[in-house]
Amino acid sequence: MKFKDYKYERPNMEVFETEYKALLEEFKTAKDAKEQNHLLTKLSELRNSVETMFALANARYTIDTRDEFYLVENEFTDENMPRLQGMLVEFYKELLASPYRKELEEDWGGQIFAIAETELKTFKPEILELLQQENKLVSEYKSLRASAEIEMDGKILNLAQMVPYRQSKDREVRKEASAKMFGFFAENEAKFDDLYDRMVKIRHKIALELGYENYVELGYYRMTRTDYNASDVAGYRKQVAETLVPMSVELKKRQQKRLGLAEFKYYDEPINFVSGNPTPKGTPEFLVDCAKTMYSEMSMETKEFFDFMTERELMDLESKAGKAGGGYCTFFADYKSPFIFSNFNGTSGDVDVLTHEAGHAFQVFQSRNYALSEYVWPTLEACEIHSMSMEFFAWPWMDKFFKEDEAKYKFEHLESALNFIPYGVTVDEFQHFVYENPEASPKERRAKWREIEKKYLPYRDYADNDFLENGGFWFMQGHIFSRPFYYIDYTLAQVCAFEFWNKQQENREEAWEDYLRLCRAGGSKSFLDLLKVANLHNPFKDGTIAEIAKPIKAYLDVVDDSKF
Ligand code: ZN
Repeated sequence: MKFKDYKYERPNMEVFETEYKALLEEFKTAKDAKEQNHLLTKLSELRNSVETMFALANARYTIDTRDEFYLVENEFTDENMPRLQGMLVEFYKELLASPYRKELEEDWGGQIFAIAETELKTFKPEILELLQQENKLVSEYKSLRASAEIEMDGKILNLAQMVPYRQSKDREVRKEASAKMFGFFAENEAKFDDLYDRMVKIRHKIALELGYENYVELGYYRMTRTDYNASDVAGYRKQVAETLVPMSVELKKRQQKRLGLAEFKYYDEPINFVSGNPTPKGTPEFLVDCAKTMYSEMSMETKEFFDFMTERELMDLESKAGKAGGGYCTFFADYKSPFIFSNFNGTSGDVDVLTHEAGHAFQVFQSRNYALSEYVWPTLEACEIHSMSMEFFAWPWMDKFFKEDEAKYKFEHLESALNFIPYGVTVDEFQHFVYENPEASPKERRAKWREIEKKYLPYRDYADNDFLENGGFWFMQGHIFSRPFYYIDYTLAQVCAFEFWNKQQENREEAWEDYLRLCRAGGSKSFLDLLKVANLHNPFKDGTIAEIAKPIKAYLDVVDDSKF
């Protein structure tokens, strides 16, 4: 059976709710743990049947946004997702009230209860209207961003289309492109300020309504973080400042030297090599063939996984008319099938799809048989370990994809991963300030942003750009608006992926076994417990980052990047 034969049928939400409530009633009145156990599986199956349809509608809509049938079905999905979530809240209440919790925990572990508890900590019916207002503001932010029409090179371009110009080898071009791109944000400064201010105030109000002091703790629960808190993250950021920032400053100096620039300005940062960025050498079909060889040689499990993906045509990779932008990996529960969506564009990003997104897909394929829907994916920081580590497990095959650019690709891969972490913690620290000080003015927020930037990105020179010098850069970081406190997850995962990179240098088989065990654990454990499963160090523990960074630095130090 192929993806195109996966059957979509609009779920009847009334029928679903009636059946789900009936199962919940049975669960409530069950005579013993065995009966409740059986009902847990049935509740998940019913939920899966609806989620599979939602995911199919969304995938087919993004593949061709002009398809009127799926356009309507995708709207149906958006409208009805909250109804499904409402049912889940009911389920979590009953689960926590179970008199057989101890027995259930023996079978399923404690994570399902931890998830249920955090879900209930983030919701009560009184906040429904505020949540809707919040969602509306997020959509407004997206439309405002999407409204960008920037004149460049005799064309009218959107923000994504500005990227190649910002990376131009011609300094004047990239200077102009960066100035124009940020010019869009500067022109709309009042609008972005106002939108964000309203978001912060609504989130603060939701937090107060739910009994929190401010949004910070609630924000962590909304990310389903059950085993670390804001003070752990503050300690982690301190490690980054002490260990990774000096390394990053060093790397930026090398970049400046490679580019042969007397002064290194913000608009020089997007270009890494005078000779251009490393690119994959071949057509999309060639790249998929390379991936097929790679996964068949990597392990038995990856071979089975990638054969499944290709035989069932579960990857829609190439750009085509009508297709939505971006890339993602999703899962069709009823078919136990991951699905990868992307827009190949000839850059190294195409290979990332076949390693990073495939890493996500590989994990969910490994945990596809969990009876509980909650255990199929873990929390987001753990999810990114699978994907970012797969990028590193793929290294031995990068010569196939990049040919003469292999060494350049590897250098850039590690370098950009390392440089990313200080930026990621900048985004995080800023948000802690914002939600701890909900009454701060937009001007105070911008001043704080610039202050934090100076701590983690000390090399950054905004030249004569007043908007950026006054702290406006974060307007372009969508996560700050749409998903508070999410960003740190990428950095945590990157640190863990670095540890996998290190382990591979020492003992690839062992590293792979650890990785496979992690993927198989899916979402059955919390973040820190998953790290234990994978024999990874706790990044919050003082000294961990310094230890992990040593071999990375040693590798980068001896690369002769002057030849790139
Ligand atoms: Zn990812």
